[in-house]
Amino acid sequence: ESNEQGWNLHTSYTNLPEAFYSTINLNPVSSPELPVFNDSLAKTLGLNPDELKSDEGVEVLAGNRMPEGSIPLAEAYAGHQFGNFTMLGDGRALLIGEQVTPDKKRFDIQLKGSGPTPYSRRGDGRASLGPMLREYIISEGMHGLGISTSRSLSVVTTGEKIRRETFETGAILTRVASSHLRVGTFQYALALDDVKKLKALADYTMYRHFPEIKDDEDPYLSLLRKVIERQAELISQWMLVGFIHGVMNTDNMAISGETIDYGPCAFMDTYHPGTVFSSIDVQGRYAYANQPPIAGWNLARFAETLLPLLHDDQDEAVKIAQEEMGVFTDLYRENWLTGMRAKLGLFNEEEDDQSLIQDLFKLMEEYKADFTNTFLALTFDKETDGVQVLLGTDEFKKWKERWKERLGRQEQSMEESHELMRNHNPALIPRNHRVEEALEAAVEKEDYSMMERLLNALSNPYEHTTEQAEYAKLPPDSDRPYRTFCGT
Ligand code: AMP
Ligand code: MG
Ligand code: MG
Repeated sequence: ESNEQGWNLHTSYTNLPEAFYSTINLNPVSSPELPVFNDSLAKTLGLNPDELKSDEGVEVLAGNRMPEGSIPLAEAYAGHQFGNFTMLGDGRALLIGEQVTPDKKRFDIQLKGSGPTPYSRRGDGRASLGPMLREYIISEGMHGLGISTSRSLSVVTTGEKIRRETFETGAILTRVASSHLRVGTFQYALALDDVKKLKALADYTMYRHFPEIKDDEDPYLSLLRKVIERQAELISQWMLVGFIHGVMNTDNMAISGETIDYGPCAFMDTYHPGTVFSSIDVQGRYAYANQPPIAGWNLARFAETLLPLLHDDQDEAVKIAQEEMGVFTDLYRENWLTGMRAKLGLFNEEEDDQSLIQDLFKLMEEYKADFTNTFLALTFDKETDGVQVLLGTDEFKKWKERWKERLGRQEQSMEESHELMRNHNPALIPRNHRVEEALEAAVEKEDYSMMERLLNALSNPYEHTTEQAEYAKLPPDSDRPYRTFCGT
């Protein structure tokens, strides 16, 4: 019974004007099985893991049957994809509903790969197993790193083969997010050319994410500020762990400030600001170092959608919005600098910190140092894989002297600095070769043990256990370029 599964579903999205969504029919699959399930996430959602893992529960996670209270729907949105504006919508996803948890938090429960919707123009609405497992691993890895993200509750195989370059195992991911409102949802609202609908969306967004601002003097300006603040925080966190989203289209930027839409994303091994993994990003639009300015560009698109709500006089509205854009640049910088200081064990601020940090990155780039392992080497004062060359140079030794002197100029002890660094430099990230080997075992051999071990290590990367230290090793062919594909 669906109630024993613990569902407490709400459907507030259907209070929006109908233009914002389409209710949809189910696209049942033949023989669903459940190889991956996130017990701890289920429990925090108030769901019952054992019931959801039973045949009846799997029917829900496969989109064959909806629990009581569900109004299955696909959301409409638009977006700039690599700079080009397009009308879009969930083309292969279904919102089961909003689960309200025992502690009264509200989360979208969405099936990804659940079949065609009115918004799928081409494509079968399905997803294949490899990319869904990949999203599961990386999103849960991001959560472990303490970075705001959509979560992954389960992956179901459908029992059906789907056609890609070859035939692949069909799968459905259950994605959990505080909402799926996107910058692109606002762009869609603006394109409707109806201020009432735009206002309805903005008000709904405040209700979902920022109830504290709804009585502000200028709530829509507050909304813009909040979204800017969350993105400034999120993007700085990405940069501090070497995460590259890969497809920062405006439809893939969540208003909540969560990382969403794990497609061609990957973590950087060797540090280089121009790193791009995605095979379709030929111009490097979404390269590592471009992420902050691209976020700013996306936020400018968001600000544009709010202009009709910001001021009756549109010239005034533009002035107001432009000022806010400067806030993003400053906040991002501040967050990043604070995070970098913590990575280097610095508690206080000095004028020269920025140049100390920049000089380290210059050396990392020049000597092709591994991003994650450079900071581990500094934290534990020992050699790690992928940084031997860097550590051996006189330039680095000089830099290290400078850093040690800087550490000596603060009140805190070396032990305190070490502790701060342990808590800000992860023992591991979802390394590309580790993710690949776990996926290969799961997809080719139905062996999920490697994926489970990896997930376990990623669940608390600041523990620095001996098992986690194994994951700091690089593969023998680590200079081979790594390519990712839009997860289909
Ligand atoms: P993404 O690149 O994942 O952000 O997806 C861009 C758009 O393409 C979204 O509207 C997706 O829902 C849609 N889409 C992606 N894959 C498929 C598919 N297999 N079938 C139908 N629509 C899809
Ligand atoms: Mg998307
Ligand atoms: Mg996607």
